[in-house]
Amino acid sequence: MSTSTLNGSCPECETDVTTPPMAKGETISCPECMLTLRVEDVQDGRLALQMVAVKLRDWGQ
Ligand SMILES: [Zn+2]
Repeated sequence: MSTSTLNGSCPECETDVTTPPMAKGETISCPECMLTLRVEDVQDGRLALQMVAVKLRDWGQ
């Protein structure tokens, strides 16, 4: 049996994140802390998520 969702946890706030099926390299937003997370690996229905560095202060000049 396979599930139609994947589970992972946010590396920042450790919130459990459930997503539809995703592939490596796709990104989601953590529902809790709103960080952008990238799928580094998918294994047995578990997502390995990594923070994506977002430049918030790159608008100047
Ligand atoms: Zn989070």
